Amino acid sequence: MRKITGFNTGVKAQRMIQSSLERERFAHAVILEGATAQERLDLAKKIATSLICESDDTAPCGVCKHCRKVFSDSHPDVHIYMPTKGDGYKTLGIRVDDARKIRSDSFVTANEAACRVFIIVDAQLLKIEAQNALLKTIEEPQNSEYFILLCSNRSGFLDTFLSRCVSYIIGDIRQEFKKDSAVAEALEAAKGVAKSWGTSNAFEIVKACGVFDKNKDLFSAMLPFLQDIIVSALRNGYSCEDGDELQNEAQLLRDKKSPEALLAGFDTVGEIITSLAENANLNLALARFAAKLSMI
Ligand SMILES: [Zn+2]
Repeated sequence: MRKITGFNTGVKAQRMIQSSLERERFAHAVILEGATAQERLDLAKKIATSLICESDDTAPCGVCKHCRKVFSDSHPDVHIYMPTKGDGYKTLGIRVDDARKIRSDSFVTANEAACRVFIIVDAQLLKIEAQNALLKTIEEPQNSEYFILLCSNRSGFLDTFLSRCVSYIIGDIRQEFKKDSAVAEALEAAKGVAKSWGTSNAFEIVKACGVFDKNKDLFSAMLPFLQDIIVSALRNGYSCEDGDELQNEAQLLRDKKSPEALLAGFDTVGEIITSLAENANLNLALARFAAKLSMI
């Protein structure tokens, strides 16, 4: 049995991880939850190095070509997926297309090492559809594949998804709560705008937009959620999971708006997202947004 080093054995989760690596029983789909984003990524890389280091006695050895490449983020068999950053990226989430890309990458055989490791950063941002697209991949991984999902907390995962993974709480799961609360705020704001649009009353729409006054970040973060609501309304409930947070508002819009109006609303939101990305003035963008919605 080769010895695995470098883990903080004072922390229960790390002790368990080290032990499963030594016994060569590390699960093929693992969730690392809690601590900070950097701590999660560091631990995931440590695991990846331990898995693919070629040393027979102590791993990670730190000197073999695999160890060095993982540490310098250049190993072809260690894939790290980060959600695309940018305005409101936290709210855009990891979409089904991203999940399909991960799935198709996993079909390719290992390049240099005996196994491959897929690390998904901010996995709590996996949208429901994206989780569904990955279910089979994590359920029946090839022997030489490991999926390590990093998340601030696992509450966004489907039960079907969680049941296929081994979860380790590696630190305080509230550390990033403050950041996640920004997402919750954007979600609430999107619901408010959707409801006000449902009334077709210009005054209500302007009132709902009041929360974005001097808060461009919140406005930017809210818009993709509003698009999600409109898409759900257009799809007539198709592809929406039970208990989906946006269902009530989607239903409301479905009742109040024609498909043409929903499409026009979707386009309007898209235009505003583009104009904000091009650094439009917040007040002008808000005024245009409220005026256009009022007319649809
Ligand atoms: Zn090594």
